[in-house]
Amino acid sequence: MTVRSGLLRLSLIAALLVAVLAPASEASHQDNLEKAVQGLGGDALLNLTSLRIESSGTRATLDEGDDPDGPPGYPGPYTMTTSVDPSQAAFRLDTDMVSFVGIPRTLTEVVTEDGGYLDGQDNNFAPPFTAPMLSDRHVSTLLHQLLLHPQLLIAFAADNPDVASSQGRLLVIDIDGHPLYMAINRATGRPSRVWMLESDPLRRDTRMEVRYSDWTEVDGVQFPTEVVVRYAGKVVQEETRNSIEVNPALAPDLFDFPAGITPVFDPVLAERGIVNHQYLQSFAALGFPRDGFQPNVIGAELATGVYHLTGGTHHSLAVVQEGGVTVVEAPLDEVRSAAIVDWIDANIGLPVAHVVPSHFHADHSAGARYFFNNGADIVVHQNVKQFWAKVMRARSTVVPDRDEPPRGVLRRIATVPAGGSYVIDDPVNPVGVHTIESDHSSDLMIVEAGGVLFVVDIFSPGLPAGPDAAPIVPRVLELGLTIDTVAGGHGGTIPWSDFAALFP
Ligand SMILES: [Zn+2]
Ligand SMILES: [Zn+2]
Repeated sequence: MTVRSGLLRLSLIAALLVAVLAPASEASHQDNLEKAVQGLGGDALLNLTSLRIESSGTRATLDEGDDPDGPPGYPGPYTMTTSVDPSQAAFRLDTDMVSFVGIPRTLTEVVTEDGGYLDGQDNNFAPPFTAPMLSDRHVSTLLHQLLLHPQLLIAFAADNPDVASSQGRLLVIDIDGHPLYMAINRATGRPSRVWMLESDPLRRDTRMEVRYSDWTEVDGVQFPTEVVVRYAGKVVQEETRNSIEVNPALAPDLFDFPAGITPVFDPVLAERGIVNHQYLQSFAALGFPRDGFQPNVIGAELATGVYHLTGGTHHSLAVVQEGGVTVVEAPLDEVRSAAIVDWIDANIGLPVAHVVPSHFHADHSAGARYFFNNGADIVVHQNVKQFWAKVMRARSTVVPDRDEPPRGVLRRIATVPAGGSYVIDDPVNPVGVHTIESDHSSDLMIVEAGGVLFVVDIFSPGLPAGPDAAPIVPRVLELGLTIDTVAGGHGGTIPWSDFAALFP
């Protein structure tokens, strides 16, 4: 089966890459596409039946570093064997990586037109497992591989010219309603870069770009041996191809799903796989996959009017105050925030007046804009005020906000001074927001209400206390706080006395 005949019958890619854009100029579009086909190998490209590529590289995650203007967080090396059968849009990725504080992981990911599955250690803190991919992981993985291997994108467009159009000298490939732009070198016919606008859950409209260089020819087909992925202008992935085999014999069962693995296609998650592609792929590479939505909210009252909201991977605190509810931590995305508001409506019945993200890391803060749009003030560390001002007014055209900001409702960005505190006052339940020095991020804060101390990432009740947790007890003593319970942004709760005893 060749690329030509194969890609035509791909149900998944047909769904993924639907033709909606009419060619702006038939002549130049044909010209751009034909130039790229010829530049990448002509018939040798169109007759590809299989590929095997050995790569090594580095992956990092946006908005997981020390500060939002600095480099992406947790850069980690990986080596990968990529096996491809273009006739069934099948990719098998066998990866060894060291991401997140040196935890080594081995993982196999297989995606085909029928879905995908994972086999190995997908999560830093979970044992290895074998499971179907959710559709967001499946589609984002497939799209990521097409972006890393532009020959396959071009071969696909050549067989499905309805998905291709032109804007001047740019080739535009329609990804299910989301335009992907490709710059074709006029002299060589090779793509120099592609880019598209994605919806980062925190930053919203965010440019994702892949650049190709150091081309080599193998059996008549052109391959970039250096690929660099930029997201929000920052390098999040650099990959070097160490060996490339064209049309190798692949084991016939290489892409087969194990018995009992039956992926289910979910169109809402598939769309998320496109618009959140880079976010999903980088968190998966970090070993903290963000696949699927997390609308399940479980509330536990830890002190009068102080609720620990769990039920997913990332938790919040809801504190009942006279002027409304203060929500401490707005993790994941606006789907999670809307679920938290539903829980508050059902169990407290007051509007959310304040939202306090503990730090800017995307997985802990991307839901804050939802509360802000619904009239809440946001309380952030002084170091990141400009970042938050930018995030709150960022354009969000790829995925429009669930709720537009109400007209005439004042919302403020309040700041906690570096090294200091900010109190959201209340006669019964004042909320104290306190900075804490840590290596985790330059804007980390701990929050106290009703004797409950909310701590995120530097300690998670139920997991061992590492060196990151050491500053907590001295900071609480310095502030003169009386704490009964520590509640985690991850994990559960622990009595203060038990926690303090870990640091004699
Ligand atoms: Zn963090
Ligand atoms: Zn975390």
